[in-house]
Amino acid sequence: MRRSLIAANWKMHGSAASIQAYLEALIEKTRDAGPEVVICPPFTLLPLAVLIAGGSAVEIGAQNCHWEEKGAFTGEVAAPMLAELGARWVIVGHSERRQYFGETDASAASRAKGAQRAGLSVIFCLGETLEQRDSGQTLAVLERQSAALAGLDPGSLAVAYEPVWAIGTGRNATPAQAQEAHAALRRRASELLGREAAGALRILYGGSVKPENAASLLVEPDVDGALVGGASLDVEGFCAIIHAAPGRRPGA
Ligand code: PEP
Repeated sequence: MRRSLIAANWKMHGSAASIQAYLEALIEKTRDAGPEVVICPPFTLLPLAVLIAGGSAVEIGAQNCHWEEKGAFTGEVAAPMLAELGARWVIVGHSERRQYFGETDASAASRAKGAQRAGLSVIFCLGETLEQRDSGQTLAVLERQSAALAGLDPGSLAVAYEPVWAIGTGRNATPAQAQEAHAALRRRASELLGREAAGALRILYGGSVKPENAASLLVEPDVDGALVGGASLDVEGFCAIIHAAPGRRPGA
């Protein structure tokens, strides 16, 4: 069985003034929820988030990490630093990192390895642009981007399929588009990680997930959860998404 995973990517949003009320409400409203819940706020809010969520089922993650354990990398944060704080997860290879900060398939793979070496679990993001989809390259792009999975430990890995054209645009992939991509990614994971690991791997959908469309996406057999940006900033809406997910689904 695969347990649903619903993760929030706050991007460059959130404040010390508001995080306590948000997390307390989230913890209260999801106490009996089936899915695993992860909140990824900006770096500066991580200590506070870990403190407030401590003792609850809500886990805390970061949005990026460097691949080295330490060194002369001004402005970067190492994975062991995140682990020392009590973060459990890190998002790697998000399309905004790829688009605005020069992230490549190779650097994303290195970050993911560095995160796992430090004991963190990784949400590894990939997805095609609109141009790539329109020219029929979606599955080829996913095949290229997912090559990074070969070097990773499947036990502390989730994959997030996030079509770039759906992120922050209000235009989500249809459930059928998401299922097609997720099934292809699971087949690919089977080649790279083995059949059993691929069957247990959680593949999340990300891109304009909202309370209104969550259930229709999360009912698909290979959509094991969601990575939620904008809609995760509102705790009521985020809780509605969590409650729309089945707790567990059959794995291969
Ligand atoms: C994201 O940033 O990972 C994301 C999916 O954003 P949004 O939900 O706002 O499209």
